Parts: sequence; C-alpha cells; structure tokens
Amino acid sequence: MLAGIEAGGTKIICVVGYNPYHLFAQTSIPTRSPAETLPELIAFLKACEQRFEPIEAIGVAAFGPLDVNPSSSTYGEVGLTPKLAWQGFNWVQAIHQAYSLPVCVDTDVNGAALGEWQWGAAQSVETFLYITVGTGIGGGGMINGELMHGRLHPEMGHIRIPHDRQRDPFPGCCPYHGNCLEGLASGEAIRQRWGEKAQNLPPSHPAWELEVHYLALAMINFIFTLSPQRLVLGGGVMKQSGLLAGIRQKVVEYNAGYLPYLAEEIDRLIVLPKLGDLAGSCGALGLACRASAC
Ligand code: ADP
Ligand code: ZN
Repeated sequence: MLAGIEAGGTKIICVVGYNPYHLFAQTSIPTRSPAETLPELIAFLKACEQRFEPIEAIGVAAFGPLDVNPSSSTYGEVGLTPKLAWQGFNWVQAIHQAYSLPVCVDTDVNGAALGEWQWGAAQSVETFLYITVGTGIGGGGMINGELMHGRLHPEMGHIRIPHDRQRDPFPGCCPYHGNCLEGLASGEAIRQRWGEKAQNLPPSHPAWELEVHYLALAMINFIFTLSPQRLVLGGGVMKQSGLLAGIRQKVVEYNAGYLPYLAEEIDRLIVLPKLGDLAGSCGALGLACRASAC
C-alpha cells in the first residue's frame, strides 16, 4: 500500500492505496502551518495502517519552489514561497520523523504530469508537458521518460511573453515580474484585470480572446523549445468552454506553417487532463510508486 500527498496552497489531499483504481481511503486537510497540518496528516496515515495494511512508500507532490534533487542534503525543502510558514520546511525530514520509509518529493505539476503519464492523457508519450492554468501558472513534464529537473525545476509560469500594452494596459500581477505569463494569464490576472472571477466571465467576454492569445504564445514557445509530443493543459481556468479550441487554433496560426505536422496533429498535441481533480493525488501516488521502485 502506498501513500500519495498532494500539497496545495489551500488544501492537502492524501490518498492511500495501490493505484487510482484501487484506493483504500482519502482525506482533505486545510493547509495551515506545518506544525498544525503535519500531525493531522500523519495521524491519517497511521489510522489507515491500522485499518488496512502497512504503507510501503510515500510520494509528495507539493507547491514550490522545492528542492527536488534526491542527492541534495536539502532534498524536499520548500524554498522562498509567499506561504511564509512553509519556507524552509522539509517534507522528507518531516515524514522521516514518523516513518523510515522511502519518500519521493516533486512539484505539484511534475506529480500531475506523472499521474497523467501513468494513467491519463499522456500515456505512451515520452516527452510532454503538464501545464496548470489556475490561480497561478505552473508547468512540469517529462523529457525522454524522465521527469523534468534541472538546477531546480522548471518555472514555466514565469516565462516572458510579448505584452502589447495598448491592447492590454493591465500591468500584470506577478509580484516578481509583473507581466510574465502568470502575471498576464493566470486566473488571478484575469480577476484583477476584469474585476471579476474567471468563471463568471461569459464566453463572449473579451477576456477570453486575450487569454487565448497569451496561452497560445506560451504553448508555441514551449513547442519550439522542447518539441513535446503532447501538452496537457489543466487547472481551473481551462474549464472555460471554448478555451482549448481557441488555443489550438491560435497555436497553429502562430506556427505560421513552420512545423509541418502541427496543423494536422493539433487536436492530439494539445489536450485536457484525463484524471481531472485526481491528477495531483494520483501523481503523488505515482511518486510513491517510484520511491518504492515498483
Ligand atoms: P489552484 O490553482 O488555486 O490550485 P484551480 O486549478 O482550481 O486552483 O484554479 C483556480 C482558478 O481557476 C481561479 O482563478 C478560478 O477563477 C478559475 N476557475 C475556476 N473555474 C473556472 C471556470 N469554470 N472557468 C474559468 N476559470 C475558472
Ligand atoms: Zn513571474
């Protein structure tokens, strides 16, 4: 039995089981400080072991920035996050205080990417991206079947894209960059620019043409940079009907005929996740699976 922990800014979802199709239990815990949240999480895991069977490995897919290098002395440590109580918190060390089990920690988006690869929309491809367009924007994925890591991990939400200030005078909402991709196209950017939550803006609202433009610019940059076989677009903002179709169309337009395969394959290239709200926690389960090397 494995445990998967998906740690988000508002809640922590924890599942135990063999795989997404064979789960024994799950819980959702509000994210407060580590001192308040961790004991609740560990108590849940211990109770599951009492009821079911011993846990063999634990996977954590967490908000970043995060040290995701297993050979680093600070593996599992949270970096400079606006969630101040979590700065410097170390997932591996915290879990090892309760369990001497293999622990695998990665970003929430790499976790979701792994979940989609094992059980969802990215099965049978080796180089792909998982991008979430939610309150913020983040991206992870695999290159040649390996989760993307580097000096730290990708921060695809913060790429710089062209910003036409005449068309869009909103300066952007990223506290670091202002008008980076997240600053211009996240759910929070939409809310600040239009004074309304994204889900309340009708499909005919000009917000969506702009959103399509920014996300298509980002996608064509990712396509030119990494040559992914698939781009899985998740997160709350992608629930907007028509957004996916608009992005596909604009990506083809911005390609301008350069990559010959793109127009024909666009519907297979850019897709929605299959695991939906389960992607993160199933991804964490996938990380646990890796930790136990099963
Ligand atoms: P988070 O990024 O906070 O983990 P989500 O991925 O659910 O959470 O994204 C939340 C964002 O998605 C919010 O900015 C919200 O306004 C937006 N959102 C939620 N539902 C919709 C919808 N149906 N259409 C467009 N935007 C949506
Ligand atoms: Zn930024």
